[in-house]
Amino acid sequence: MAKPGDLVEIVTKNKKYVGILMPKPEIIKSNTIVIKLDSGYNIGIEKKKIKKIKVIKKAKKGKKKNIKIKQSKKLPTVSILSTGGTISSKVDYKTGGTYASLTAEDFIQLEPKILKFANIRAKQIEQIMSEDMTPEHWIKIAKEVYKELNKKEVSGVVITHGTDTMHYTAAMLSFMFPKLSKPIVLVGAQRSTDRGSSDTFMNLICSVIAATQKIGEVMVCMHATTNDDFCYLHRGTKVRKMHTSRRDAFRSINQMPIAKIWPDGRIKFLINYKKPDKTNELNIKINKKVALIYVYPGINQNIIDYYLNKGYKGIVIAGTGLGHVPTYLIQKIKKAVKKGVAVCITSQCFYGRTHSFVYSNLRRLSQTGAIFCEDMLPEVAYVKLMHVLGKTKKLEKIKELMQKNIAGEINPIISKDMFLV
Ligand code: GLU
Repeated sequence: MAKPGDLVEIVTKNKKYVGILMPKPEIIKSNTIVIKLDSGYNIGIEKKKIKKIKVIKKAKKGKKKNIKIKQSKKLPTVSILSTGGTISSKVDYKTGGTYASLTAEDFIQLEPKILKFANIRAKQIEQIMSEDMTPEHWIKIAKEVYKELNKKEVSGVVITHGTDTMHYTAAMLSFMFPKLSKPIVLVGAQRSTDRGSSDTFMNLICSVIAATQKIGEVMVCMHATTNDDFCYLHRGTKVRKMHTSRRDAFRSINQMPIAKIWPDGRIKFLINYKKPDKTNELNIKINKKVALIYVYPGINQNIIDYYLNKGYKGIVIAGTGLGHVPTYLIQKIKKAVKKGVAVCITSQCFYGRTHSFVYSNLRRLSQTGAIFCEDMLPEVAYVKLMHVLGKTKKLEKIKELMQKNIAGEINPIISKDMFLV
């Protein structure tokens, strides 16, 4: 009898299917059998259509191999801190879905080639999907990273992270570490490790290589193309997840990636990057009372009042085009600014720069005291405003800091080749 986890062949009247038999999730009707195909997708087959089920291979008993990790004196040491997400997910045969289960040590078992480039230290600091990350998690991650950075033997830190909000964490860490003596590299995976097309392996190798470089920045390392050829190393304040499922979903916006990294160890730098500082400085003082609002035709005019009444101290608006909001919101924004709330303007176009004078509506918006955030991404402005509000409550000072390039988040010169790279 076939059991969950077994590789099976299912024969129906018209077709044969080969896949791993999944335990039936509660949401699926009981007259259906679910298998995971080689592509990684699950399909349900109605029992009445099934002529035969043949077990091709029994499920392995899940015993972990005990690996001995050899330390090489010639190699640098990289700390991998795992936080969860797809990169640390595997199939849950109880629910048929994927769940976060791998500890950092498991990454070495997963991709032993990383040991060619570095000695690996490993620690699991969280186990969550990144949509559940909160500013508290960013603080916790920053503190853990800081501990690793201050260890003499550590050359750099890799953080494995769910991809959905990885760019928020990368941006927040960029502001939380005004001084960095070693690189911090965030890495994730779009496809879980049980799938043939998983990007985990190459992303992991390239991120370890990145963490051995002499760079004083927070970066994101992910597949550059749909092939398994090389990864891009992106600046943490200029990167965004731009696709729901493609392996090359992460893109540098209004900036070129910092480098190309090949899994054989080659690296080609594409732009200048920040050289390491002598020391590490951590600043975790943030004000969490910041909202990020995406405006749209027909948006409720009370949205600004809602946040004012809740005591928010900052609002980032992802405006349309050059940074527009519906005209009826301008009065509301004026009221917010008068009350001392910082209102920052970014664009939902992502590419390009906001402008405060091209149209009269932009000039009116700017006259309210709203702060136009140059070419900063909305998510980056959101975390930066938390950081800035942790330093000052004065609107003039907030404006000065928001419009000042602190961690590579503002690019004064956007060239043509930075579009859709
Ligand atoms: N939504 C999950 C997360 O961001 C899974 C996606 C992923 O890791 O790619 O953690």
